[in-house]
Amino acid sequence: MREFHNVPKQEKPQEHSVDGHAHEIFKIDVTNVMSNVGDSKRIKGTSGLTPIKGYELDFVSGADMEWKVEMRRVSGGVEIAGSLKGGVELECARCLHAFSFPFDITIREVAIFVSSGYEEVEGPNSEYLVVDGVLDLEPVFRDAICLSLPHKRICAPSCRGICPVCGADLNVETCECASRKIDIRLKPLLQYKENLSTNGSDGKLPGPSE
Ligand SMILES: [Zn+2]
Ligand SMILES: [Zn+2]
Repeated sequence: MREFHNVPKQEKPQEHSVDGHAHEIFKIDVTNVMSNVGDSKRIKGTSGLTPIKGYELDFVSGADMEWKVEMRRVSGGVEIAGSLKGGVELECARCLHAFSFPFDITIREVAIFVSSGYEEVEGPNSEYLVVDGVLDLEPVFRDAICLSLPHKRICAPSCRGICPVCGADLNVETCECASRKIDIRLKPLLQYKENLSTNGSDGKLPGPSE
């Protein structure tokens, strides 16, 4: 038994081959595992998540997400019910640092049977397809996660972001750029206030009634 523990972990398959495999586990041969209407199948697993630009998402090896699905063959299609739980790493739009966005999603979808030469699918619940007897859960999962992602991707509401002038991370340091900019813009106003003060006023801007 001890020899087993001494096997170096480096001997794992390369990321790419595991990546390719991850896509395969989402493909369900419906005609085989749920050959009759009413048959159901439960599967679960884990997957890594790699966000691509915009709202795309790739499933890779890893354990960013735990997924569970129960599929039931119905007349003309497959009902899919399940849950996706985990977190996806996003880039903060303000400070550009990575942060984890947690999600816990319930899935309820229907995929309908079509043959590979299908022209167009009409009607409700036709968004997902069982093409030639094979259901691909990947688009179902991807849509569910992508729809749950925040519209504004920021690490925290209080994130100060990066200075657009000097590039300083304003969460950890300060810079003079902002105050310099304000000086220029506020100069006429400051001048006005100064004049009021020298004229014996209290320095307040005149109100609407005055
Ligand atoms: Zn941030
Ligand atoms: Zn700056």
